[in-house]
Order: sequence, then structure tokens, then C-alpha cells
Amino acid sequence: MAGIYIHIPFCEKKCIYCDFFSVTNKSLIDCFISSLLKEITLLADAIDKVDKKNVETIYFGGGTPSILSTKAFDKIFNALFKNFNINKQCEITIECNPGTDFTSKLAEFKSFGINRISIGVQSLNPKELKFLTRIHTRNEAIEAIQKTLSFFENVNVDIIFSLPNQTRETLLQTIDEILRYDIKHLSAYSLIYEEGTPLHNKVKNKEITPKSDEEDYDLYMLIVSNLKEKNFEHYEISNFAKNGFKSLHNLNYWRYGEYYGLGPSAHSFWDNKRSWNIRSLRKYIQAIEKNTLPVEGFENIDTEKRIIEKIMLGLRAEGISISKFQKEFGVDLASISSDLIQSWVRYGKAQVRDDQIKLTDEGYFICNKLVLDLTERVLNYLGIGATHQTW
Ligand code: SF4
Repeated sequence: MAGIYIHIPFCEKKCIYCDFFSVTNKSLIDCFISSLLKEITLLADAIDKVDKKNVETIYFGGGTPSILSTKAFDKIFNALFKNFNINKQCEITIECNPGTDFTSKLAEFKSFGINRISIGVQSLNPKELKFLTRIHTRNEAIEAIQKTLSFFENVNVDIIFSLPNQTRETLLQTIDEILRYDIKHLSAYSLIYEEGTPLHNKVKNKEITPKSDEEDYDLYMLIVSNLKEKNFEHYEISNFAKNGFKSLHNLNYWRYGEYYGLGPSAHSFWDNKRSWNIRSLRKYIQAIEKNTLPVEGFENIDTEKRIIEKIMLGLRAEGISISKFQKEFGVDLASISSDLIQSWVRYGKAQVRDDQIKLTDEGYFICNKLVLDLTERVLNYLGIGATHQTW
């Protein structure tokens, strides 16, 4: 079983903070769709084992997938259903931007089998939306949530926090207002100052000052406590879900499942190999014209990488099973790192229940550091220690 991720590399306008690959010139949309259809066939041909074509989740991300016409989606779904075995219960998500007219397409989305909508709201405060250079207003975002809920039950809303001028009050207003609606999932991301983005330049030019770690922590815990009060489970650093509505697509990543990435810059992971597609629309199209998969590079996942990634993905989400880890790597975490894990538990960063080491809300906040400490311990024990990883 695997997941499929499809990267739609078009946006109406580039947001100031965004590091994802997307272009605002839409003249190549038709060409891109033709290439994508061909990439689906090329990829399916490259997968030799039939059971590898069983697909449990499909995720349209970007970019702004909601820019595409329903005709384009129709073609994409035809190609997917023709080339892969799409499970009847398949979770199919599409990311939608409230600044695109996606609500007029909701009925058709449903008819294609899409059953989960993820809305990029980011904030309901007009000043914060302006700061983020989003293309939609707060009213458009609210209307998008309302209309989507009249068609779909499984709805996620994305928000961004720790904006330079954000206060506890403005963040609370956004959360309160969003939670008036019966959304089933919320993803909350701390604003990241990615190198090369206009936002990063603003920091370099001292036009804005990022929030301190303490302020970031304060706002993070504000979100955590508010969502927990409303019966959302905090099941990954940035993700909260009502019972039965965790994102299966993302769970597959965190559980180290296999996935196929389609579209420029998309990543894939299967047969112990991670690969990434070309991060250029023209080069992507050219590669497919030559009947080759548009892969830019790949790495084989050896034991060391596998250990690092399993610890990282486990701790950031559902935790690490001590017995499964021992079975796979021959390492008993409970004995080689008992002092470390006990100190995490003592300081409220983790819990050990039955067989599972799982981070608490406080632990999630410093997840990277904890991952580093545990990884170092395991690799040193095995004598294959690459001591300083950067994440
Ligand atoms: S809409 Fe999304 S993908 Fe497009 S620029 Fe903004 S954040 Fe990036």
C-alpha cells in the first residue's frame, strides 16, 4: 500500500514566506497536465510489482491545486484509476486556497472521489493576512469554510502562527472563529523564515523581528490548549484531529510508508530509495517529452539513514515502539538510552506507555533536539555514529 502525492506548481501570486515550488505564469498549465498524465503512466510502468500499485491515499498539494479546472482533474483521475489500484476507501485530499473560486467546483470534486478538503486560511485577522501577502480576505476564508462544510465532512484548516506582530489575542480570535465551524482537523505551523524568500530578506534588512523562542512556545501552547479543550487530539507536532479524522496521507509519511510523488519538486519513497523530481516546470516537461521520469536525484536509504528517519518521524508523531525498533535494528532503546528517556519523562517532555515512547506537547516543541539526542545515542551504540545531523 502506498500514497500518491501530486504537486500542482501554480499559484495566483507568490506569498512572501513561501518556499514551495510554484510559478505564477499559468501559460504552461495545459502542457503541465499533459506531462503529468504521461508521468503517471511512466511511473506505473516503472513499478514492477503489482501490489505496489495499491494506493490508499492521494494528496493534491502545491502550489495551488484549486486553480485547476475540473476538466483537468477529470483527466488526472482517469489516468490514476487506469494505472493504479485505487482502494475503494482511498482518502483523497485537495489543498484549496480561499482566494480561488474553488467552492464552485466542490460538487464536482466530490464526484471524482475527493473526500477531504484542506483550506489554507492561515489567519482571520486582516492585518496578518496582508502581512502574509495572502490573496484572500478574512470573509472569503470564512465563506470558503462554510461552503466547503456544506459538501464535505472531512475538512482541514491550515493556520500560521508566530507572525511578528501577532498577539495572543489576535491568534485566539482566529482560532475561536475557525472553531465555530465543525472542522475535523487543524494544522498550525509556526512561521518559518526560509532562506531566499522575501520574508527572510525582511529579517536580514531588519524590517521585521521574528518572535523569540519563548513567544513562539507561548503561542504554540495557546493553540494546543484551545484545541484540546475542543476535543482535538494533538497527534503530530503541527496537527490536531477530531476522533477518526487524522490525515491518513500524512500518517503514512510518519509511519514510514511508501509514497509516489508526481509533478515538479515532488518526492517519492519506495523500495528503500528516496527520489525527488526536477524543481523547474520547463525541465520537468522536457524530461517527460523524452519519455523519462523527471527525477533530479535520489538516495538509497541505508541502515543509518533509516534509523535517523525512523526516530525523527516517530517522535514527531505517534511515538516509537521499543519492541518494533529492537526487532528492526537490534537495539533496545529501553536499555541503551534509559537515562535519556527517563530525563525526558521527568521533565515532562515524553511519556512511556506500554511499549511506546511518545512526546508530550512540550516535547513536540523541542522535537528536533530530542531527535538529535536519541539518534546520537543509538548511532554511537552501533558504532556508525554520524554525530551531528542537521534537520
Ligand atoms: S498559495 Fe501556498 S503554495 Fe502558493 S505561494 Fe502561497 S503559500 Fe506558497
